[in-house]
Amino acid sequence: MRLFNSLVAHTLPYVPKSIVGLVSKRYLAGETIASAMATAKALNEEGAVCTIDLLGEFVTSESEVQKTIALYKDIITKIHEEKVTSSISLKPTSFGALIDREQCAKNIYDLVVFAKEKDVQVTIDMEDHPYTDFTLETYDKLRKEFPQHIRTVVQAYLKRTLPDVKKLAESERCCLRLCKGIYDEPADISYKDRNKVNENYLAILRVMMEKKSYVGIATHDDYLVYKAFEMIEEFSLTEKDYEFQMLLGVRSELRKEILGKGHPLRIYIPFGEKWYEYSLRRLKENPNIAGNIIKGVLTF
Ligand code: FAD
Repeated sequence: MRLFNSLVAHTLPYVPKSIVGLVSKRYLAGETIASAMATAKALNEEGAVCTIDLLGEFVTSESEVQKTIALYKDIITKIHEEKVTSSISLKPTSFGALIDREQCAKNIYDLVVFAKEKDVQVTIDMEDHPYTDFTLETYDKLRKEFPQHIRTVVQAYLKRTLPDVKKLAESERCCLRLCKGIYDEPADISYKDRNKVNENYLAILRVMMEKKSYVGIATHDDYLVYKAFEMIEEFSLTEKDYEFQMLLGVRSELRKEILGKGHPLRIYIPFGEKWYEYSLRRLKENPNIAGNIIKGVLTF
């Protein structure tokens, strides 16, 4: 399996852009704000809430950062005006973390001020480990001023996450998305074994539930979803305490099952002109997902 994954990661850059586009189509909501809104509205009608992500990470020019901020303001305005039930998700490296961290934190702060005026929530996605401290610190500062409008993400594959969550949950209520993590992190700071990641995922989930944090259970893994169902019952959680989260286009039968059982569910909707870079980076960074895409190519 490892050999297959490595082969896939090396082969992907040679897959024609048109094929990557065709295969990735179901994971993306087009290139425009209008297409993201249409996707979100359709999902709202199915009973899911959404979070919209403008593609484009690791931005190195200030003008590109400003363009991203302007587009996010347009998205927030549209969510508000068109009464779509959606938050937004953003990445620190889209907001200038590679250029100037202090300015990046201010850019995120200003956007949260704007979003709060329109009553739209903001989630700061978690990128790879050089940004973990920055992201958690930014979240920790913002949640004091905007407790209803800011969330962030923690990754179960990082060894530091369990103590991080315990610390965050100590002072006040956390609102965190819990995912496995998508980046290829060094072995000394991350679990590589799938069972170990799952074990840590459930340990973190338990702490969050015990501490009465709001948890976004972000996974498509049946094992984790079924364990989460049990824990939701064990802790007698209500809709104010949790939601499931899934990526657009992934495992729609599981999506229907979660909604069918009456659980709240949020779908992550990536869109934008940078879809090709996003698709390739995801494929290179995570051979498991690459494997899924290549399987898609083979069966297309
Ligand atoms: P896996 O074991 O990887 O997948 C379980 C099953 O789901 C697989 O067997 C496969 O059948 C299916 N599956 C999973 N992904 C795909 C796919 N792309 N295409 C087709 N089938 C698939 N990671 C971060 O590092 N930072 C973030 O901020 C972040 N935000 C996320 C937000 C949401 C809403 C979600 C759902 C994930 C997010 N992730 C993020 C990605 C996450 O860390 C995982 O890489 C990803 O969700 C796959 O892990 P899994 O829990 O679904 O388990």
